[in-house]
Amino acid sequence: MAQLQDKPSIPQHHGATAEPIVELKKVNKSFGDKQVLFDIDLTVRSGEVVVILGPSGSGKSTLCRTINRLEAINSGEIRVGGQLLPEEGKALAQLRAEVGMVFQSFNLFAHKSALENVTLGPIKVRGMSKTQAEEKGMALLRRVGVEDQAHKLPAQLSGGQQQRVAIARALAMDPKVLLFDEPTSALDPEMVNEVLDVMNDLVKAGMTMIVVTHEMGFARHAADRVVFMSDGHIVEENDPDSFFDHPRTERAKDFLSKLL
Ligand code: ADP
Ligand code: MG
Repeated sequence: MAQLQDKPSIPQHHGATAEPIVELKKVNKSFGDKQVLFDIDLTVRSGEVVVILGPSGSGKSTLCRTINRLEAINSGEIRVGGQLLPEEGKALAQLRAEVGMVFQSFNLFAHKSALENVTLGPIKVRGMSKTQAEEKGMALLRRVGVEDQAHKLPAQLSGGQQQRVAIARALAMDPKVLLFDEPTSALDPEMVNEVLDVMNDLVKAGMTMIVVTHEMGFARHAADRVVFMSDGHIVEENDPDSFFDHPRTERAKDFLSKLL
């Protein structure tokens, strides 16, 4: 845990003046006639780490997926780096590249090596040369500690290694923000920490991150802010110590009591 105390508390990262990277205003989302997000307002500023907590079905994944338009919204506004999300086409692909996403189930391309998974985006979307992309890809695989697995296929890697490749793949696009949707939930317990270590390194490096997780240790130590969702609403938003020690709503109290 020593490394967590090294997190730089650079004031402009956490002040109200840091550049907003992700802004949601009155976002509503329905699947058919079932509304799953209600008037979501959320601003995440440069360098902030926001952890989203809430019971299963509360809309956490849907919220993440709307931020890079894997899901269209019914009303409201979403801006990334100050720009409204375009509807489709090349502009959407470009803006989506600013939002790195790491999923519970890794979602690596099964027929491509670890290195190819990491170089594909920079080559296709950023127009980087293969040589340059591979150089960068190897550096990223080294950063997440799987350099020696570069030429293996995902199926030849452990879950923890696959998830670290997935993080390297997201980083390869130089995203403005990284979204993590329960990145450790599908892992065997002994592999959870190797992924959390990489995430903690990103926190230390000042990465802007939105993290859905059930790892309460990570939430308490790494988050600048906890956002608690229930039934499609943000019902509480606070610094982690206040949230965990003094939840204000019955729903948050109930959620926390069930974790013990
Ligand atoms: P969480 O990630 O907090 O568990 P989700 O965002 O996955 O919650 O789901 C929120 C609600 O939206 C749930 O009721 C879920 O059943 C519903 N939902 C999610 N995805 C779809 C979909 N593609 N079609 C219909 N309903 C969905
Ligand atoms: Mg989910």
